[in-house]
Amino acid sequence: MTVKKLITVPNEILRKKSQNLEKVSNDEKKLVNDLFDTMYHHKGIGLAAIQVGIPKKIIVMDVSQKEEKKNPLCFINPVIKKISSQKSKYEEGCLSIPNTFIEIERPKACIVEYIDIHGKKKSMECDGLLSTCIQHEINHLDGKLIIDFLSKLKKDLIIKKLSKTKQNKDRILV
Ligand code: ZN
Repeated sequence: MTVKKLITVPNEILRKKSQNLEKVSNDEKKLVNDLFDTMYHHKGIGLAAIQVGIPKKIIVMDVSQKEEKKNPLCFINPVIKKISSQKSKYEEGCLSIPNTFIEIERPKACIVEYIDIHGKKKSMECDGLLSTCIQHEINHLDGKLIIDFLSKLKKDLIIKKLSKTKQNKDRILV
């Protein structure tokens, strides 16, 4: 079991665009396992590889409720093919932005094409929480974060607050 270190705001790595995988090698299979370990450890329901500093298009998710059995899902090179006109709203948090929840409206349903851990092409219809979660994670692959849905002023305030909570010995005031 390997729980990887999470990258948090304002680290610029989170703004990198992730790259497609050409094939799923053993290294990437191990990475997927580490992503699941990291996500479950931090009690998240989704995690993108870029959140542990690796700019590859890999997402893991599990939106099952606590009482249910685990339902690990892995999406490689995911692309949203269709979105519904109907919207839904959730208060979204992000493992890369501690203690911050933002209400975001997104398409209620979407169809996602991806390849699975065995390299097989697949497509999935996502609805409700699953739809919101996959859109949040695909945003990560494009370097987009939930704070980008806010006005610049609110966004700057959150970044400032998070920057202050970090112990930073190298910071000076001049
Ligand atoms: Zn996130």
